[in-house]
Amino acid sequence: MRTVRAAVVNAVRDAVRVEPLSLREPRADEVLVRLGASGVCHSDLHVITGDLPMPLPAVLGHEGAGVVEEVGAAVRRVKVGDHVVLSWVPYCGSCWYCESGHTHLCEMGYVKSLAAEVFTRDGGAVGQLAGVGSMAEFTVVPESGCIPIDADIPLDSACLVGCGVMTGVGAVINTARVEPGQSVAVFGAGGVGLNVVQGAALAGAHPIIAVDLNERKLGLARAFGATHVVNGGAGDAVAALQELTGGRGVDVSFEVIGSPDVILQAFLGTRRGGKTVVVGVAPATAMVSLPGFLLPLAEKSLVGSLYGSADMARDVPRLIALYRAGKLKLDELVTRRFALNEVGEAFAALQAGDVARGVITF
Ligand SMILES: [Zn+2]
Ligand SMILES: [Zn+2]
Repeated sequence: MRTVRAAVVNAVRDAVRVEPLSLREPRADEVLVRLGASGVCHSDLHVITGDLPMPLPAVLGHEGAGVVEEVGAAVRRVKVGDHVVLSWVPYCGSCWYCESGHTHLCEMGYVKSLAAEVFTRDGGAVGQLAGVGSMAEFTVVPESGCIPIDADIPLDSACLVGCGVMTGVGAVINTARVEPGQSVAVFGAGGVGLNVVQGAALAGAHPIIAVDLNERKLGLARAFGATHVVNGGAGDAVAALQELTGGRGVDVSFEVIGSPDVILQAFLGTRRGGKTVVVGVAPATAMVSLPGFLLPLAEKSLVGSLYGSADMARDVPRLIALYRAGKLKLDELVTRRFALNEVGEAFAALQAGDVARGVITF
């Protein structure tokens, strides 16, 4: 048992507090990680607002990277001293999804992590967001929840691969399998949307059209590979997409906000036979309404993308290699760094749209 400082949300819409918690030792298949950095993601914010329901109290943070401090007796894939990126879908390796090669859809990993009870306060359990809880000096995660990376990669850039970058780039290359020359639209140019843009650029898409209401974010989107930008507040975004694609609409559109209205726009802006990929997480109670006749008559498909459909053990090293080769921007995403006790400011900056990504560094 050790005492660690962690950013805790105690109840929906409560202020986040940095509190001392007890952290138990890792069990046989678990790893104790000393955090180096934790990105501040919208999903953390959605837990605070209640839009993403989870049992509270809980330690925030699911986009983490750090150094392995201790390993359980059965751990084989990482060792003490390894630098690791944390995954928010630890997987069991033996359920139907894991057996069929879809570890990101594992049914058991999350259930197991809910029962892990690694953090406690006065004897009562404090959960860890998505089985990670990376806004803490240390955390304990399953072996399948940490992926080793080279030690010279800065942890404050590497942590982003643990959520925003994988979610965005993976949606393009794994979920949608965008091909060179396909036209792409990205609705929402925030921390994840920028990564959809750079994933589309990596895939050789053209044009890459970013849609947002915020001119500063549209400027960032250009820097990440958008060939065209559309301010959705200045006119009809669907018409703008059609105009840029010979009247057809785009081959693939991505919705990266989680708004039913924007999902509809992304769907309408997709060409006949095209694909609309929903990456943004809508509030748990939201319903999406679409013109049903277009699904068959325009043969459009609508598909969700979770965690970039990633196989983390395969895809984390792949993205890190692209970063090292100068083909994937990570450092440029980190617009502000915060100390753990500045976590309130970090969330305020996220809400204000001031940052591509804020990162808490330890
Ligand atoms: Zn996230
Ligand atoms: Zn599984």
